[in-house]
Formats: sequence, structure tokens, C-alpha cells
Amino acid sequence: MSSRTGLLFHETYMWHATGTQWLPTAGFPLTQPLAHVEGPEAKRRIKNLVDASALADVLVPLKPRSATPAEIGRVHTPEYIARIAAESAGVGGDAGFGTPFGPGGYEIALLSAGGVLAALEAVVAGRVANAYAIARPPGHHALPDTGYGFCIFNNGAIAIRHAQAALGLRRVALVDWDAHHGNGAQHIFYEDPEVLTISLHQDNSYPKNSGTVAENGAGRGLGANLNIPLPPGSGHGAYVAAFERVVVPALRRFRPELILVASGLDCSYFDPLARMMAYSETFRVMTQLLMQVAAETAAGRLVGIHEGGYSEAYVPFCGLAILETLAGHDSGIADPFRDVCGLAGGQALQPHQDAVIRTVEPRVAGVPEPLGSEGR
Ligand SMILES: [Zn+2]
Repeated sequence: MSSRTGLLFHETYMWHATGTQWLPTAGFPLTQPLAHVEGPEAKRRIKNLVDASALADVLVPLKPRSATPAEIGRVHTPEYIARIAAESAGVGGDAGFGTPFGPGGYEIALLSAGGVLAALEAVVAGRVANAYAIARPPGHHALPDTGYGFCIFNNGAIAIRHAQAALGLRRVALVDWDAHHGNGAQHIFYEDPEVLTISLHQDNSYPKNSGTVAENGAGRGLGANLNIPLPPGSGHGAYVAAFERVVVPALRRFRPELILVASGLDCSYFDPLARMMAYSETFRVMTQLLMQVAAETAAGRLVGIHEGGYSEAYVPFCGLAILETLAGHDSGIADPFRDVCGLAGGQALQPHQDAVIRTVEPRVAGVPEPLGSEGR
């Protein structure tokens, strides 16, 4: 197995045009237009920071390919795919629930999903040990028949179906640490016992009324969806505790052959769209813990898929911490915000955060184990 880490990026991801209207509007009088919060800069600055660092010497650059309509069609309906293609050939449109895109948005979204597939293929083929895809547009809110919350196609779900249909893997886990609920994968795999979906998110943030502890999967998939709705203000201690007490034990029980991370960096201290307090060290520890479990159960197969993250100043340093950890290599660049974030009050696990984690812990025992493994 290669010990190298792949980094997937493409300049045209940055050309996905989200326009100037994100602020809520309620007819006239309009709100003054402002650059859309899901812009290219936070993502581009991860790549730029890597390029300026010693990590650039060790990361393996991965190139995206376009996902085919058939690959997208494992998750999305033909009608939805056709609508996005048609609007993209014109002036662009809205994929749904606040997901604007410009001309060519369809092709960029195919390249975003296909980039995740390329990163996954590189890992499964052993060309790299693990990989991170700075994919844009993001994917984790998208549903089979509609875009949702800045997401056109559900990159993570498409990757899971591809791993199963084309790469010979069956049991896949998706850990979503984006500050917002990973509603898309939850919906798509809700009754699927071979896909474990875990979302850590800010309680009742986005989408509204989505991501409660009680949403635990259904039918044969009962137990294979875990939500950890952390209170706003949760920081390093809460995330690490949730990982040590829920995420890691759930993964050990499920024993996936592949771990994907819906890596939203909007749970960071400075994010404008969430109120969480994770910082670079938090991402470092979460990545380390996933690498340990991946090494135990999944031959190390771990693929990061970039999702949200809107602090142009801080996202790059969180991304760098993840990449340093995946690669086992010091970038030579220290997080300049480390003390501001890490020494802030409330970074330790607080009692009301602990209480939430305690309500999820018993559900680890309900995570489906591989068939035939009972009693082991
Ligand atoms: Zn988010």
C-alpha cells in the first residue's frame, strides 16, 4: 500500500458561479446584493496555502474526471439531472432550496462529483494511501430529485454507490463533520444496512428540524444512521468526546471497508454560518482517529470530501491540519489562530454537551455488524 496522500483540486471548481444573492429576500425592498457566501475563496485558499508550504512536495496531485450521467443516476433522478443540464446550457438556475448556479454549472458539478470518484479510485487502486478532494460545488445536502443548500449533486452518496457498484466494496461508512446536518446521505441510505451514516452537527441549524438523535435509520437500515446534534458553542472537547464515545466505537462495530468524510470546515471557530468552536487541532485529532479505525477495518482507505466552510481566513488552516495528518508530514506552517481558538473559554467538554453525547452512546450497540459476525 502506498503511504502517499492524494490532493484533488481543479481550477474550474472555483468557476462555479453562485451569484450575489444569498441573504434572505422577501420581495421589494430587496436586500443589497452581496457576494454569495458559498464562494470560491475559502476553498482556493486551502490549495494556495498547500502550494506555499512544504506539503506541496509530498502530496500527490490528483486530477478529476467528469462523472457520467449514469454514475450520477445511481443517486439522482433522470428528470432532475436533465433539468440541471438544461438550465446550465442557458443562463443557469437554481438547483433547489438555495442552490444557484451559472452557465456551465452542470459540467462543473459533474467534475466535482467525478473528482470525488477519481480520489476514491486512486485510494481503492492503492495509488495513494488516502486522499482529500477539494470538491466544489459541495454535495452533502443534495437529495435524489433536488439540489439543496448550495449542493447540486450528492458527491458523497455518488461515491458510495460507485464504490459498491464498480469498485467491489460493500460496507461503507460516511462521517459528516460539517456543522450542518448531513441530510442527503441520511435520506438516501436510511434503509440501507451496508452504509453507516454518522453526522455531527450544530443542533437544529440547517436544514431545520433535521438531524435528531431519534433519526436512527429504518427497516433493514435501522441503527445505521447516527446523529450527534451538538449544542451551539461546542468545541474541541465536545468533538473529541463525540468521536471517542460514538464515532469510533460505531465504526469499529460496523467494520467498513471504506471510510468517507463529508469534511465541512464550517464547524470552525470563525465560521459565519455556524456557531461551533472546532479549530485546527480538532480537525487533526478527528482525522487521526478516523485513520486509526480505517487502518483497523478498511485497509486504511479514507477519502475526505470537502463540503461547507465559509471563513476565508480560517478554513485554509483547518484544511492544512487535515492534510498534514493524512500525509503524516509537517507543512512547516503553524496555525496563526491556534491560541485565539484553542485557549478560548468553553473548549473543554461542557456538561450540556456531554448530556447530548450520552443520549447517542447507547445507539452504538444498534449499529449493524457484518453478517455472520455475531458473537465474535
Ligand atoms: Zn455546512
